[in-house]
Amino acid sequence: MLIPCFACESRFRPDEYFRACHDYHRGKDVVAWTCPRCGNRDELRVFTGELGFGYARHGGFDVSDRVRVPGLRRRREDLRLDISLDEAVWRVPTGTRRLVGAH
Ligand SMILES: [Zn+2]
Repeated sequence: MLIPCFACESRFRPDEYFRACHDYHRGKDVVAWTCPRCGNRDELRVFTGELGFGYARHGGFDVSDRVRVPGLRRRREDLRLDISLDEAVWRVPTGTRRLVGAH
């Protein structure tokens, strides 16, 4: 099970992919993701069993592409989103700071 970067077409194992998620936006229900290979910044929505990719629009988020990730689960907490797959859990904090190292 590999998850692609839509910019450079690298594919990542779930652990590598979800560790690169960094800011959870509660209002839009999306997490920000920065590709470890090419630095492309993307936004995605986590669903049960799949990831949704798309575009921010009118303060919301329209999903246009979905990638199936069997076994994926999500749990919304106060200040973060917990993403889990099998035994692993990744905690994505609510983003209040700017991305460090952005050019
Ligand atoms: Zn990339």
